[in-house]
Parts: sequence; C-alpha cells; structure tokens
Amino acid sequence: MRMLVDAVLEDLSTKEVFLFRVTCGSCGAEYGKKPLHFSKSETPPTSQSQQILYDALYEQELAQARRIAVRNAAEHMNYCPICKRLVCNQCFMICDELDMCRQCAADLKQQGNPVLVSFPEAT
Ligand SMILES: [Zn+2]
Ligand SMILES: [Zn+2]
Repeated sequence: MRMLVDAVLEDLSTKEVFLFRVTCGSCGAEYGKKPLHFSKSETPPTSQSQQILYDALYEQELAQARRIAVRNAAEHMNYCPICKRLVCNQCFMICDELDMCRQCAADLKQQGNPVLVSFPEAT
C-alpha cells in the first residue's frame, strides 16, 4: 500500500517546507498535507561548505518527510483492483467478494459499506 501511495505522491516541497499531497481518485479529497519545516530554513548558509552540508541535510530531511507523508496518507487510501485508482476511505467499499471503490461497486452492482462513513452520526 505504501509503495502505491509513494508512486502517486505529489511533491509540493519548497526550499523551506516539505509538503506532499495524495489526492483521492474518486472524490478529490487531499491527504498527507502536513507541512514540515526544513530544520535550517531560518539559518542561511554562511559558506560554500555549509551550503553543501545544508543541501545534503535537505535531501535527508526531504526523504524523511516523504516517508512520514506516505505513512499518513496510506492510512486514508485504498487501492481499487477494478479501476486501479487510489481512493480514500470514504470512497472505498468493503464488499462481499471483492473490496472496491464506490464507483466500481455501483457499476458492477456490488453491495458493500464504505471503510469510513462520511457522516459520523450514521456510524
Ligand atoms: Zn474519496
Ligand atoms: Zn474502482
């Protein structure tokens, strides 16, 4: 699941902030958008060697931030085996034979319940 999320994860990071986004293929809801600041964003490098150091540090923190974003987003996303899209918990149905997204369930006339019901009072 995480590998799938990683493949579609959008990198919106800047020099100061690490930011990623995964969008539900069905409803368009966005997940994983929790910005993390680069630890040196407030302290500009004062020398060439420090610049190199910061660049390496940035790469490291970017990879770390990406792992966190993937982990967070994976909790909200599901892979639909029919349409091959990643959809959020509200759009993913637990069906009798095969779990799939809401749209495919409707197309294939499958009965099921969403992983997450959008209205808390209905649970
Ligand atoms: Zn959705
Ligand atoms: Zn589907």
